[in-house]
Amino acid sequence: MFLHNSAIRIGSMAEAQWRDENIIIVYDGTENVYQDSLLELDAIKINTLQARDVFSRDRNLALERIKIEKYRCEYSASHSLFISRHTQRPYLEAHHLIPMALQKVLPKKLDTIENIFSLCPYCHRAIHHAEKDLTRGILKRLVDKRPDILHIMNITRTDIFSFYSVEEIY
Ligand SMILES: [Zn+2]
Ligand SMILES: [Zn+2]
Repeated sequence: MFLHNSAIRIGSMAEAQWRDENIIIVYDGTENVYQDSLLELDAIKINTLQARDVFSRDRNLALERIKIEKYRCEYSASHSLFISRHTQRPYLEAHHLIPMALQKVLPKKLDTIENIFSLCPYCHRAIHHAEKDLTRGILKRLVDKRPDILHIMNITRTDIFSFYSVEEIY
């Protein structure tokens, strides 16, 4: 079972090929527009077409999450952060643990306060691009922080690893 053009397919495909497809799911091109929108002080300034990408991510939810976390990285509160010259606050990024690109195939709403994590730029890049052990470690810690997500979304830890193509293979 795998994802192809945002649809679940059952069948066979070379592993390297479906892993490449999944990379698009984990890191889509609208990511920068979304992160940059969090730096705008005034929502009215933002071009609404740009700020609301195809998956309609609400910047206010991301800003709320970052505020709840008291402007700290959710992987480790000790991670050092620079101050954004735009907001005069520590620079953090918003990451959807269950990737928004899966919205088309998952019935539950993914742009929710529970699914959004406040991450420092290092952890955010690592969750998308690091070697599997590191990405798994970050994912594990985030799931442990809000384990209810598994019940709310009706998924398992293994599902989360598979969304990032970092399943443990025994
Ligand atoms: Zn992300
Ligand atoms: Zn961090």
